[in-house]
Amino acid sequence: ARKRLLKLKKTPAVTKDGTAITLLANIELPDDCPAALDAGANGVGLFRSEFLFMGRGATVLKVPGEDEQFEQYRKAVVAMKGRPVTIRTLDVGADKPLDTTEHTALNPALGLRAIRYCLAEPQLFLTQLRAILRASSFGKVRILIPMLAHAFEIDQTLSMIEQAKLQLRDEGVKYDEAVEVGAMIEIPAAALALPMFVKRMDFLSIGTNDLIQYTLAIDRVDYEVAHLYNPLHPAVLMLIAQTIAVGQKAGLDVAVCGEMAGDVKLTRLLLGMGLREFSMHPAQLLAVKQEILNSDLAAITSRTRRILRSFEPNEIATAVEQLQSL
Ligand code: PEP
Ligand code: MG
Repeated sequence: ARKRLLKLKKTPAVTKDGTAITLLANIELPDDCPAALDAGANGVGLFRSEFLFMGRGATVLKVPGEDEQFEQYRKAVVAMKGRPVTIRTLDVGADKPLDTTEHTALNPALGLRAIRYCLAEPQLFLTQLRAILRASSFGKVRILIPMLAHAFEIDQTLSMIEQAKLQLRDEGVKYDEAVEVGAMIEIPAAALALPMFVKRMDFLSIGTNDLIQYTLAIDRVDYEVAHLYNPLHPAVLMLIAQTIAVGQKAGLDVAVCGEMAGDVKLTRLLLGMGLREFSMHPAQLLAVKQEILNSDLAAITSRTRRILRSFEPNEIATAVEQLQSL
């Protein structure tokens, strides 16, 4: 079966009725790029840059400096040979602690993490933004911001990006002036206040891992409540479907980059919600592509509409299963 999948590497991901789907890879380090290309990825949809900052215990520099980061981002951009690379800015805190952050919050998932941390550490953030922008002169780079919930966070972030650009311009350093900036939609408040995002952002990427965690109030790394972590909860489905619909209506690309995007059992449900861009671990990519090649959008879409109207968990689970035999 694996052999048959490997044959699909160069086959475009198109549904039976001819709709093209973009399949992107999630990576942690530039060294993951060959695996992404081997799986036939159209680009990188999520470069989790925090992995450059983690596990540095013994090194002299606790956090990577601008040049070190730039080298890593450039490496990924060059490795992807012209395909877009979406670099997510530092998403530390909660399940991804930084060696240098000593204070232990009572509820780290609700604390000073991701963009909140970056806005509280402007020098660190500016350093990363400069490094990313410098890499953008070597290929198509998109900047993705994690954990946004407030308009002022978006505005502050955009003005810091402008500041980084201005500094580079003054120094005569090259970067892509048109670099796109997007938001992770992974806090329920963001999914419920999308107009705030679509007017300020160039693209959206739904982080279902955190969106589920925050919607259901389930710590994603606490095994004692793992059985309550349900991607098919109607509230979760509603938020995902809304984000896709509202984002696309505003003309923005909308991707899903959480684990749901790489789950073949959910491929058709997401297609039925209108999703056209999936970002996942490279190991899942060809199996998802195979599912797409066998999918008939018209049938799936009308069935999905019915699923989205249901509030009965058993009914939803059964209907999602049945999507696979359409
Ligand atoms: C997510 O939250 O779904 C996501 C893609 O980001 P992470 O898993 O790195 O928090
Ligand atoms: Mg997340």
